[in-house]
Amino acid sequence: MTRTQTLPDATGHFGPFGGTFVPETVMAALEELEQAYAAARRDAAFRRELTTLLRQYAGRPTPLYFARRLSRTLGDIRVYLKREDLLHTGAHKINNTLGQVLLAVRMGKRRVIAETGAGQHGVATATACALFGLECEVFMGEADTRRQALNVLRMRLLGARVTPVRSGSRTLKDACNEAIRNWVTTVRTTHYCIGSVVGPHPYPRLVRDFQSVIGREARAQILAAEGRLPDLAVACVGGGSNAIGLFHPFFRDRRVRFVGVEAGGQGLGTSHHAATLVRGRPGVLHGARTLVLQDRAGQILTTDVLAAGLDYPGVGPEHAYYRLIKRAEYVAVTDAQALKACALLSNTEGIIPALEPAYAIAHLAAIAKRLRRGSIVVVGLSGRGDKDLPVITERLLG
Ligand SMILES: *Cc1c(COP(=O)(O)O)cnc(C)c1O
Repeated sequence: MTRTQTLPDATGHFGPFGGTFVPETVMAALEELEQAYAAARRDAAFRRELTTLLRQYAGRPTPLYFARRLSRTLGDIRVYLKREDLLHTGAHKINNTLGQVLLAVRMGKRRVIAETGAGQHGVATATACALFGLECEVFMGEADTRRQALNVLRMRLLGARVTPVRSGSRTLKDACNEAIRNWVTTVRTTHYCIGSVVGPHPYPRLVRDFQSVIGREARAQILAAEGRLPDLAVACVGGGSNAIGLFHPFFRDRRVRFVGVEAGGQGLGTSHHAATLVRGRPGVLHGARTLVLQDRAGQILTTDVLAAGLDYPGVGPEHAYYRLIKRAEYVAVTDAQALKACALLSNTEGIIPALEPAYAIAHLAAIAKRLRRGSIVVVGLSGRGDKDLPVITERLLG
């Protein structure tokens, strides 16, 4: 168990998952990134600059909020919300983009590209690029540009170019393909800022490290508040960055159970879900070996769930590994359950969550009665609901 804390290994593997499956042309750029990151990690000035940005600009540390009325409604448990929704740009994504853009500056790259689904990572990347005066281009599935029009406007106002992707299902996985394609031709001047703990080595590790600030803070905060560690940590999983960020600093605390919650869409019996860890099989997607939703012939399945941030047929290799070694448990809840949980949190606490973390709240609501009395639970509240208001109100208030 101790050794696993230091994963991935030198070749970027988490057990059988991870690694590097990319065109030859980007190998050099990945090696450059790995070396730059290794040097940055050891550089006190880099760490200080990132910490200062996270505090002064992004709004860290975020509160670990004891949700009294939610706890009481769910039963005899104590629920704490890690409030990443209060960060600048409204979600945890900024933890990662500030780190990566700082690295890009260090590597002398003048241009940054990114893929985006809901638009949250695109906005967070455009924000960090504006802050450092870097050129920014964001690839976004054309279907998503329509679903998340406001985020397109935000990115453009921030000075980024938004390029709609018209291939495939015109969503996140197609935007990833297009970003990789663009990177192949521009690697010398361009940093590819990946939005989750996915992609080839060193991205899953790098993004995990930048997001681990969530769990490090939460660990200290829960010890201060309760004098002990939580029994359970729950977070939603799209690519898996907010969940790994919360879980990883508790990895060695074996009594802290981890539950990752995926979007079950309209149900696992339908083709409308994104439950990769629950239903996926090993395969290669976007540069890494991981669990993937695929048909018998290995064709990647299209996902279709209400939360755009969870609408992805792959998942970070570290989660695939946690599942394999049974360090974490992964479940799926439906869109309908998530919508109900949105209303529940809004009504009991005056906090309107993004749709994505509402899946985590929904799962907690479903299992709360089975938890031991007095259980302490930390829930990753990855983002706020503003971006989803049209969908939430249409479906809930009709
Ligand atoms: C992007 C996003 C997610 C999903 O991404 P992960 O990498 O799985 O964290 C979850 N919640 C919010 C609010 C998001 O914007």
